[in-house]
Amino acid sequence: MSCIIIGASHAGVQAAANLRRQGYAGKVTLISADNVLPYQRPPLSKAFLQNVLPEQKLWLRPDTFYQQKDIDLMLGKRVTNIDRDQRTVSLDDMQCLSYDKLIIATGASIRRLTVPGSDLSGVHYLRDYQDTIGIRDSLKHANNVVVIGGGYIGLEVAASLQKLGKNVTLLLKHDRPLSHITSNVVSDYLTQRHTTHGVNIQLNVVVTEIIGVDKVLAVETQNGQRYQADMVIAGIGVVPEQQLAEQCGLEVNNGIRVNEYMQTSDHNIFAIGDCSSFYHPVYQKQLRIESVQNATDQAKTASTAICGQFVPYSATAWFWSDQYDDKLQTAGLSEGYDEIVIRQETEKSLAVFYLAQNQLIAVDTINQPKSFMISRKYIHNLPKVNKIILADKNQDLNSAFT
Ligand code: FAD
Repeated sequence: MSCIIIGASHAGVQAAANLRRQGYAGKVTLISADNVLPYQRPPLSKAFLQNVLPEQKLWLRPDTFYQQKDIDLMLGKRVTNIDRDQRTVSLDDMQCLSYDKLIIATGASIRRLTVPGSDLSGVHYLRDYQDTIGIRDSLKHANNVVVIGGGYIGLEVAASLQKLGKNVTLLLKHDRPLSHITSNVVSDYLTQRHTTHGVNIQLNVVVTEIIGVDKVLAVETQNGQRYQADMVIAGIGVVPEQQLAEQCGLEVNNGIRVNEYMQTSDHNIFAIGDCSSFYHPVYQKQLRIESVQNATDQAKTASTAICGQFVPYSATAWFWSDQYDDKLQTAGLSEGYDEIVIRQETEKSLAVFYLAQNQLIAVDTINQPKSFMISRKYIHNLPKVNKIILADKNQDLNSAFT
């Protein structure tokens, strides 16, 4: 009996740990293209980028864990092929390993800029450990940094660099940050916070060229503006790492298609985390979610199924982001809301509740962890709400859902 896991990040490591926790007696092999111990990604754009988190705190598990749990961790090895008939995987060092069950936890890879000048030295992306190390190194010689992208990565990088005392320009293609996933209220709050901290936010700008000679000097936008840059960091999204699955004929469509147990169209192969596309029974749609919660919860579903217990995946999606001293927390998915209700405690503490036909489908909180925890508890059932209580900071939030 053997289980091979491709990818040793949030999803892969959790799957391996859970297999052992559930008493899986077969061989567990965890293969990672990365050369370092499996690590947490969230700090890469936050504390680790700011150089205030020691490296040991980045590791998902201590190095002794893998040996103790009899998990064969293979670092610096890339799987190049899956042979479903033979039930084997090939590695880039010519090894060929057999599996009974296979878990694909290959995550996502960054989307790259395609404008002229994108390959100049000084243009960076942030997805893995080496990226952050590279950025930290380049920052030693950089003062003016242009960050491209108004998603979580762009915002977090801008906040971190501002904390490090850099001149930061943040270029956004859309009219507000996080425009696809949150309301104007949250976007406006973030815009204001970044501006207050001295970030030069430019909205509705399309980057047309990275200017430089060998090394980046400036970023040019469609309206002819040039922004001086000693370095550029682009956070323009990711694409699911689904090539292996595609090559061996598994069903893919913006992610590797899985059923409620994380099984692909080949039931001996599972796909979890950022690379998987699944149908969510509560939201009743096909989703691919990029979050630690989703990666770890899907890992539990897949490994539990491999151990013989089939429990359908239906976890509530949740996410967090740290920018300056603000903590943003999100539960549920706000797409399709028809109304919002705001519970404001102070200028810097608010919760935005997203309703669809008076049912709570999502919440964004800023520095209101208690509201996040309470809402997260109820949101799974899409409860009907009492809007007056929801908005009233002096009333117990629990009673809004009953
Ligand atoms: P990944 O973390 O992408 O890992 C996949 C692994 O598979 C990689 O190590 C890769 O090298 C390996 N791999 C790929 N192909 C192969 C192959 N062929 N052979 C061997 N190995 C392979 N989420 C939150 O919830 N909160 C946050 O605050 C947050 N902040 C983030 C900050 C940053 C900078 C980044 C990059 C992400 C952040 N995320 C955050 C998202 C979160 O980190 C991801 O959703 C999570 O890492 C997904 O885990 P995963 O295991 O599915 O995939």
